Amino acid sequence: MRIGRRAVLAGVAGLVPAMGRAAAPLRVVVTFSVLADLVRRIGWDRVAVTSLVGPNQDLHTFEPRPSDVQAIAAADVFIVNGLGIEGWTDRLVGAVKLKRPVVVATRGITPRKMMEGGHAEIDPHAWQDVANAIRYAGTIRDALIAADPDGAAAYRAAAEAYRAELAALDAEVRATFAAIPRAQRLVVTTHDALGYFGAAYGIDFRAPQGMSTEGEPSAKELAALIGQIRREHIRALFLENVGRDVLLETVARETGVRVGGQLFSDALSAPDGPAGTYIAMIRHNTATIAAALR
Ligand SMILES: [Zn+2]
Repeated sequence: MRIGRRAVLAGVAGLVPAMGRAAAPLRVVVTFSVLADLVRRIGWDRVAVTSLVGPNQDLHTFEPRPSDVQAIAAADVFIVNGLGIEGWTDRLVGAVKLKRPVVVATRGITPRKMMEGGHAEIDPHAWQDVANAIRYAGTIRDALIAADPDGAAAYRAAAEAYRAELAALDAEVRATFAAIPRAQRLVVTTHDALGYFGAAYGIDFRAPQGMSTEGEPSAKELAALIGQIRREHIRALFLENVGRDVLLETVARETGVRVGGQLFSDALSAPDGPAGTYIAMIRHNTATIAAALR
């Protein structure tokens, strides 16, 4: 006898009402793939998540489509990273009436500053420090509870389980880099997206493209970076899944330093790729960088 999977699931849901959700899922729209993964880990089947910027897409240079305006207008919850990385959302939010205020995932996080073109600017890539991802998760949990109070217990339980996973990940990354002498921990990436990762785990990053993938180094800046790589005996260069690889390839050719692989910075990979989740992304970047530095 064949019993349909749907019938079995319906039966289980009927027996365990706390697990099911009678109403339609909460519609959550986020700006990019890292936020989408965090929301799924806390909301599970209570949420339907849409990410405006998809896997392997560039958050800095994204051009919203008319369908993105519609998605935000229909959203129960709209979550952004903040710290100025998604300037393009201002126009979208201005064009629609939101059901609830925009949720800023970096709320309460003290941003780090970086020198950019001779002046200090706020670095928006806060998710690259796992301790910050734990803070993002707390903000997301509170936003989901505010929009869907019936799910409060489920959101709290999922957020607590995820927090424990992230804390273990943070310890794992620390242990990996602690085994590599500090003087060896100097690497170059396409754009300055890993400053928080570097500050948290004791790695110095340099990047020809600066903090935004829209940046374009002058010939003088590029020459200065090449000089620095030669002087400081930088051991590895990394491509990213966003940004302009041609600059990094120029630097690799000029310095003879090998390319140590690809890092995931401002977007996850496709789900079946090496960085399909936030945790997979941090693990992949850690293993890739550590392998090149040893
Ligand atoms: Zn970036």
